[in-house]
Amino acid sequence: MGWSERQVAMLREIGVRVWPAPDEEVPAAPIAIEAAAAALAPAAPASPVSTLDWPELREAVAACTACKLCETRRQTVFGVGNTSAHWMIVGEAPGEQEDRQGEPFVGKSGHLLDNMLRAVSMTRGEAEPARQVFIANTLKCRPPGNRNPQPEELAQCEHFLIRQIELVKPKIILAMGRFAVQSLLRSDEPIGRLRGRVHRYQGVPLIVTYHPAYLLRNLEDKARAWDDLCLAADTAARGAAGP
Ligand code: URA
Repeated sequence: MGWSERQVAMLREIGVRVWPAPDEEVPAAPIAIEAAAAALAPAAPASPVSTLDWPELREAVAACTACKLCETRRQTVFGVGNTSAHWMIVGEAPGEQEDRQGEPFVGKSGHLLDNMLRAVSMTRGEAEPARQVFIANTLKCRPPGNRNPQPEELAQCEHFLIRQIELVKPKIILAMGRFAVQSLLRSDEPIGRLRGRVHRYQGVPLIVTYHPAYLLRNLEDKARAWDDLCLAADTAARGAAGP
């Protein structure tokens, strides 16, 4: 993938050093599809939300009282982006800003995520579906004090994310951080061991990468996250081009 001056400027902003465009110099590495991970991907459980359309699903999320997080949330955070987007980004859970504004990734880590996406010509804003992302979290409600999601909360909320993925039908999923990976791949392996290859969720290629909040604390891993984005872009492009 080559990049424009604007993208180079964006990459500098997110702290990634830019070398000549890889496909000018280096032949694209073959993408290893992780058959084993495909076997681990969960079969969609029969759930009352599995037949809902977008408005019904949005309503079901807003009205959900399945776990204690409904007692402390300001509002649910459903997701944002084009419902036919080619990319789906899966994060962890709303933080304070997201809980206030009702949109995922609007705080500091959201700013970094937007810049990273812009560097590969993707956006949560208006664009054609091939350039758009839909962003959702594993949890739709903020855990108090930004604590980690608890297993029973993840289990209660999971069917909403499953239905969102079914409805978006993305060409690629980017799973950001431990909880997205646990939900979608049923894997407890560290991100560092899972990234760098193509997994599958219900047949959809899935790339594992670091959570933006982690990247804000671990600047040295930004270059790896950039590699993950490039792998996602290449994988989506290959999918669009057919086998
Ligand atoms: N972190 C997430 O994983 N999701 C958000 O929406 C905000 C921060």
